[in-house]
Amino acid sequence: RESERASMLAVNEFALKHFEHNLYETSDGRSIGLSYFYERGLNDSVIKKFRLGYASEQSTTLYNEAVSKGYSEKYLIDTGLCIRTENGRVYDRFKGRVTFPVLSVSGKVVAFGGRALKKDIPAKYVNSPESLIYHKSNQLYGIYQAKPSIVKKDKCILVEGYMDVISMFQSGIENVVASSGTSLTEGQIRLIHRFTDNVTVIYDGDSAGIKASLRGIDMLLSEGLNIKVLLLPDGDDPDSFSRKHSSTELEEYIRTHETDFIQFKTDILLQGVANDPIARAKVINDIVRSISVIPEAVTRNIYIQECSRRLDINERVISLEVSKQISALA
Ligand code: ATP
Ligand code: MN
Ligand code: MN
Ligand code: MN
Repeated sequence: RESERASMLAVNEFALKHFEHNLYETSDGRSIGLSYFYERGLNDSVIKKFRLGYASEQSTTLYNEAVSKGYSEKYLIDTGLCIRTENGRVYDRFKGRVTFPVLSVSGKVVAFGGRALKKDIPAKYVNSPESLIYHKSNQLYGIYQAKPSIVKKDKCILVEGYMDVISMFQSGIENVVASSGTSLTEGQIRLIHRFTDNVTVIYDGDSAGIKASLRGIDMLLSEGLNIKVLLLPDGDDPDSFSRKHSSTELEEYIRTHETDFIQFKTDILLQGVANDPIARAKVINDIVRSISVIPEAVTRNIYIQECSRRLDINERVISLEVSKQISALA
């Protein structure tokens, strides 16, 4: 299995270089792929840093190239770089797409994401399937590039997508990683926790983004991380927002708009509730449940105080509810 893993990593590495080569050295690569990245506002430096590439529109360009260099079909299929159809035909999964290699924390290419360039293609993104070398739930897009900055700033910014990571990085905010669409997992949180205790979640400013933020909060809290949340204007994601603002504005916006999770939850959940006491009680219970998952008593207490201030409820009442919840969970 070790040698199988090594063979899969090797063919992924080959594909990475092949896609990069296409982007810079082929006319389609330049006129379709590279110009797509330029249109989206990326500069050469981040395109290189994130090792972006282009997969030709022909069905078997990568396949032919790899096989002619001695890579076996088995690993092309095991990694998901190629797909075998029912009738035995083999074709390149990422054909006609720009490619985003997913690097592990140590810089190995474990997977790819590919974005469609045409509007009529059904899936906007396709991703490598789970495999011996790729367990999506233990990877974070951008971790390899972000690691030094996460350590230096002692903080990690968590976003949704590939382009969010790259645009923010280009704007000078380098401590940024993406969960890549799926909801956050324990493995991803532990990966962040290896480098910092502090996370700011910046998901898309739509209802899906808000829902995902709310789901992520309790998971991050229960791993003992300090969490802040930033809500972007509706319709924006970190990528589109970065493009509309200068780096200084972006940094300033984050600094002034990130809020702790109690404030985020109260703001979101109290919307439209006004003074309906039953609805308010539900919101309070929701926040109590979040506080209860925090492993450290001191931190819990700080949030109990914060919750008491914000919702104007006696601290001892909240404290009691948190204790009850903790016993119920035990
Ligand atoms: P873009 O800015 O390129 O349109 P995005 O990142 O803003 O992409 P979202 O729709 O916000 O796209 O999705 C967030 C992330 O979810 C993507 O970056 C990608 O990792 C994943 N994703 C989105 N659509 C799909 C899909 N059809 N299949 C698989 N993963 C997807
Ligand atoms: Mn810690
Ligand atoms: Mn988005
Ligand atoms: Mn986007």
